[in-house]
Amino acid sequence: MADCFDVQKIDFGAAPGERLAVLGDPIHHSLSPAMHNAALATMGASDAALKGWHYHAIRVPAEQLSVALRALHGAEVCGINLTLPHKVDALALVEEVDSIAEQMGAVNTLVRTATGYRGTNTDGTGILNAIKESFGSDFTGRDVWLFGAGGAARGVAVEALNGGCARLTVVNRTSGRLRALQKDLARSLKGRAVECRFLLSEAVHFDAEARPLLINATSLGLQGSDPNPIPEIFLEAGADIYDTTYGVENALSRAAAACGCRYADGLSMLVWQGARSLEIWTGRAVPVEVMRTAAMKALNERRGS
Ligand code: NAP
Repeated sequence: MADCFDVQKIDFGAAPGERLAVLGDPIHHSLSPAMHNAALATMGASDAALKGWHYHAIRVPAEQLSVALRALHGAEVCGINLTLPHKVDALALVEEVDSIAEQMGAVNTLVRTATGYRGTNTDGTGILNAIKESFGSDFTGRDVWLFGAGGAARGVAVEALNGGCARLTVVNRTSGRLRALQKDLARSLKGRAVECRFLLSEAVHFDAEARPLLINATSLGLQGSDPNPIPEIFLEAGADIYDTTYGVENALSRAAAACGCRYADGLSMLVWQGARSLEIWTGRAVPVEVMRTAAMKALNERRGS
């Protein structure tokens, strides 16, 4: 199966060297093409060098990633975003990764070089800007509770530690991802006085400081009928809640409204991580609000379909 990726069948919508792509499986639901192509249209209107650029979504199953990256390099795709299930596997397939991607143990952005791809991760920038615009402050001095220990949680955890949180508690349902994250974060924790705890959901007890920052990075909340990933006892006025899922009224958003907590969903993180990727690829300032409007429009269309 690994060799059935056929780059000849892909209509990139742009000439070699002006091609961008997001790879994932599934990928049909991705808001990224709408968001990036809206920004590129705006940027290209005043910058001839970007006029022909186009961003394309490509379904790539996990076992085809290696073959796909080689083929896309040959097709002169100059920038690539990676989403589920590729963010961790790609680490071993790119020719170099920067220190932030190495700390996170995951890459979401690839930049083409003469001989391969260089990997970085913009999820940290995404969550940081999202927290700032949602709650008016960054991670400095916050008591951060991170629910989930998968790919999204990795970016959040590293950014919270780098951003000077007072304490980080990671809570996860099962031990596999929790212990893997604990091991990988050891390097980020070196030389820092910050307290960092890793707890199984069943062992969580409430000892949050005043005004904790609660972040849902589990997959719970993608469906409106999913149970609340954050125990009720945490949901008290004063807590700020950032939910990395977006576009769905779910148990967490309903509970947050009921207890008067500030709540923001993950669309802002998606927009800011995408904006940073596009900035890296083009070397230009990116129209973030154009990306946000396009993402919201695509989300509404998806809801209606
Ligand atoms: P992932 O690597 O597959 O991790 C999934 C996480 O959810 C794991 O911690 C898993 O716990 C937990 N989980 C799954 N089902 C659960 C359940 N029934 N009860 C409790 N915990 C459960 O996925 P990911 O890439 O981190 O994505 C997680 C979420 O982040 C998704 O909703 C995704 O949409 C969102 N996300 C948002 C952005 C953004 O820009 N807004 C970016 C990336 C991801 P176990 O380890 O116990 O299985």
